[in-house]
Amino acid sequence: MTPTSVRQNLRRIQERIAGAAARAGRGAEEVTLIAVSKTHPASAIREAYEAGIRHFGENRVQEWEGKRAETDGLAATWHLIGHLQSNKAARAARLFHSIDSIDDFAVAQRLDRARAEDSVAGKLRVVIEVRVAPEETKSGVEINELLGLAEKITGLPRLELVGLMCIPPFLEKAEQVRPYFRRLRELREDIAKKLGVALPVLSMGMSHDFEVAIEEGATEVRVGTAIFGTREAK
Ligand SMILES: *Cc1c(COP(=O)(O)O)cnc(C)c1O
Repeated sequence: MTPTSVRQNLRRIQERIAGAAARAGRGAEEVTLIAVSKTHPASAIREAYEAGIRHFGENRVQEWEGKRAETDGLAATWHLIGHLQSNKAARAARLFHSIDSIDDFAVAQRLDRARAEDSVAGKLRVVIEVRVAPEETKSGVEINELLGLAEKITGLPRLELVGLMCIPPFLEKAEQVRPYFRRLRELREDIAKKLGVALPVLSMGMSHDFEVAIEEGATEVRVGTAIFGTREAK
């Protein structure tokens, strides 16, 4: 990817975000674009930053540690979007502004504790990942365990639970994914009501299906390939 193509891709995606938001009677400013920079070099992050992106998503603690020095000084919000192992929780609490893929209370407790040990001011933002398609995906909390997990996390003093995230199955037609996004939105409403807390964030939608996600209420879309090009197979 050249800087021009990253810029052009971003412009195109922003137009599509605005179009999807308009179809749902929402404003484009209600949707945050998280540029998923995993596997791409720090230079790609800089290009997107220069084109105006202020939110980035990485899925591995270690990989992000390696790129951090080269992106030092960029005033962006860094999201961890991949599965977090409990032995990496303390590092993650220091390296990221938001952990968007919590599915386990022990990990949440570790994040909370790390925050206390570092005596960082303010709460660490967390999002619960929900397993909306048990037959297709392995990460995320089971739907029947979601309320219990959310309740326990809201009891941790140094974490701020802001919403829910999901990775639906990859289906050929993005339209087929709509029921999963709708389900996440309904779960969010249900949990928020039962716990009496505001859960403003719905992190859903990737390159392939972000428009459908926005139509169903996504407030954050996580887009990689459509910005940075295809990732090399591992
Ligand atoms: C890689 C990844 C994305 C971005 O996927 P694309 O299809 O490249 O847009 C979004 N969310 C998560 C959790 C990911 O791991």
